[in-house]
Amino acid sequence: MPFLLTISAILIIFLLYNYFKKRPPLVQPQENVEQTLLNKDVLFYQKLNEADKKDFLERVQRFLSKVKITGIKTEVEDLDRVLIAAGAIIPIFHLKGWEYKNIHEVLLYPNLFSNEFDLESGGRNIMGEVGSGALQNIMILSKPDLRAGFLQNDTMGNTAIHEFVHLIDKADGTTDGVPDYLLQHQYAMPWLQYIHSEMKKIQAQQSDINPYALTNEAEFFAVVSEYFFKQPALMKEKHPELFAMLEKIFNIN
Ligand SMILES: [Zn+2]
Repeated sequence: MPFLLTISAILIIFLLYNYFKKRPPLVQPQENVEQTLLNKDVLFYQKLNEADKKDFLERVQRFLSKVKITGIKTEVEDLDRVLIAAGAIIPIFHLKGWEYKNIHEVLLYPNLFSNEFDLESGGRNIMGEVGSGALQNIMILSKPDLRAGFLQNDTMGNTAIHEFVHLIDKADGTTDGVPDYLLQHQYAMPWLQYIHSEMKKIQAQQSDINPYALTNEAEFFAVVSEYFFKQPALMKEKHPELFAMLEKIFNIN
């Protein structure tokens, strides 16, 4: 009798083992953090059709797999990762196949910083910067300014877009406000002439473009690109010529 019980027990254990072994693993619906946050916090993404949303999400994830994001005395949250990647992809979204080759790390700072990349000293208040020299291929962004750029309000600024536009500008070797890869040669002169005439208007306070654009041609390009991607309808109304030029540069029909 004990023998039979033992045999039965072994048989039952064997059957149970096989039953659980053969069951397919439970399929968890893949909770996609990036998708959720893009839907919630990135207006540019919200306005895309389904096919473009899929493409945008893939490029965001690809960017995040290649570029390291490091918090300096601040925590990098999922929202920060997604906003940095969105700021990278928005200006190149219509430039199919374009990938950043000049960045491998973004440092996220807890606040504004000085031009020495120094957290402690006062000095200039910088929201973002593309590194050079020893900091080649590194970008620094201030966390509160990164986030403020994506708030849906009536401002025209987006720090992440600004810095990534500098990288696009820099891809041809010089950060000079003329993105050679995107602007056919014959359009470079009219573009520079336009920049200089608009700078005069900003100087005379006859323009709503952020006066930081007066710094030089590269800053002009970065500042108007922020405006273009954040408030396209307003730019089209107020600066139709500039709007058309930026559509050409960023390959938007
Ligand atoms: Zn700048």
